Amino acid sequence: MSDIPLILWFRRDLRLSDQPMLAAAVATGRALVPVFILDPETEAIGAAAKWRLGLAVEAFAKALEGIGLRLVLQRGAALEVLRGLLAETGAGGVWWSRLYDPAAVARDTGVKAALKAEGVEARSFAGHLLHEPWEVESGQGGYYRVFTPFWKAMRGLPVAAPELAPELACGPEQWPAGDDLAGWQMGGAMNRGAGVVARHQAVGEAAARGRLRGFLDAAVADYATLRDFPGLAGTSRLSENLTYGEIGIREVWYSGLRARDEGAAGAEAFLRELGWREFSYHLMHHTPGITHANWKPDWDSFPWREDTADAERWRRGMTGEPFVDAAMREMYVTGTMHNRARMIAASYLTKHLMTHWKVGLNWFAECLTDWDPAANAMGWQWVAGSGPDAAPYFRIFNPAGQAERFDADGRYRQRFLAELSPDPGPEALAFFAAAPRSWGLDPKRPYPAPVIELDHGRALALAAYSARKA
Ligand code: FAD
Repeated sequence: MSDIPLILWFRRDLRLSDQPMLAAAVATGRALVPVFILDPETEAIGAAAKWRLGLAVEAFAKALEGIGLRLVLQRGAALEVLRGLLAETGAGGVWWSRLYDPAAVARDTGVKAALKAEGVEARSFAGHLLHEPWEVESGQGGYYRVFTPFWKAMRGLPVAAPELAPELACGPEQWPAGDDLAGWQMGGAMNRGAGVVARHQAVGEAAARGRLRGFLDAAVADYATLRDFPGLAGTSRLSENLTYGEIGIREVWYSGLRARDEGAAGAEAFLRELGWREFSYHLMHHTPGITHANWKPDWDSFPWREDTADAERWRRGMTGEPFVDAAMREMYVTGTMHNRARMIAASYLTKHLMTHWKVGLNWFAECLTDWDPAANAMGWQWVAGSGPDAAPYFRIFNPAGQAERFDADGRYRQRFLAELSPDPGPEALAFFAAAPRSWGLDPKRPYPAPVIELDHGRALALAAYSARKA
């Protein structure tokens, strides 16, 4: 068996180190045929995530060349592509790192069953998470619905040490033909200027590691206090890299542990946030409906508004509520949004504008370069009140109060709102350059009047909540 090639199907694990599947494959000594497949499931992701994935694939293809391999690019249904490659290369197996969102699980389960039935070795590996979602069990053997006990249980579990990157691997004598990445036009649906968003990306494994080091050298010490201030560089910004697997989660975890041991006060808080990422996957595994339906079914009767002109103003960063608009424009210009800003923007949409969380979830999925199916779903349902461990619906963030508290000097709002500054900076102006012409925006126009008066919006939301409870 050892001289029969192996196909390595890469998806969201685009790195060489802390890569259990690649390490195990290299250790076999077999010829390896790495492939990335643009299949319908991947085609279906949001515009920004797809564009950013294309950059990750490009960087990873170069990294593979450094160890003597090539990344074969093919387009089509995964099973058909894999069957074609098996026939062409004479490979005897297909290996991949597991994913957990419902679409990927459905696809991978089908692929595994079909390949096994055809006598092909089909094997999946861990790698995206610290712990497989089924490994963290509650005392009763079930799953956790609340974060704190989940975190306590997870914190006590051992985490395997990350593998080193292989220095050299063996490829096949004859490489199968592949597509040209440029021909796939992964950025084709980015209506806004990709050039603007590109300035804020750190693409590939080396850049991701650079981000991690920068964070450990500077912000981790004060992370617990500064992580809430969107105008400060107080967080790691690793979400974008973690989502494509450009850096291994165990490497990040062990770096956090080391920082803690060396006395960095904020390190434990950072590890806890990695715990939230794990929790979101734990929930998505045990309750896959979280991605598209109210996690608490009794919320099905809540009188959410569907998509409206108000929601459109929210999407365009034109609600007239500065903290909310700064958040929405931050996402449009940079591809990410600060966590506190995500909470404020989501709360405003679901509460003051009483709009269904799915409207917001979908727009985030379209615009975020760090889009993650589990974290996005949990975040939206947590804020809306329909999710696990949710903030109670009656706790409504006041965007003005939040701005006073977390952006007291206005630096975040000024950074992204051209209308509020006599001399707007590049990021504030970039929003107007990136926005589609059809939106008809102009930085010289006065800042819009509020869609809704905050007290009024809050009263309407609370009345609907009381009526639902009654
Ligand atoms: P840091 O503060 O440096 O945290 C380190 C890592 O921990 C992050 O990179 C991330 O992987 C994880 N993490 C931190 N906070 C959370 C959290 N609340 N939930 C899950 N994981 C967390 N995160 C995404 O990665 N993709 C999304 O699509 C996404 N959508 C969200 C939508 C809403 C409505 C909300 C409220 C939150 C969402 N989050 C999402 C979680 C969080 O906002 C981001 O992970 C965080 O802002 C990323 O910035 P960072 O890398 O600097 O995080």
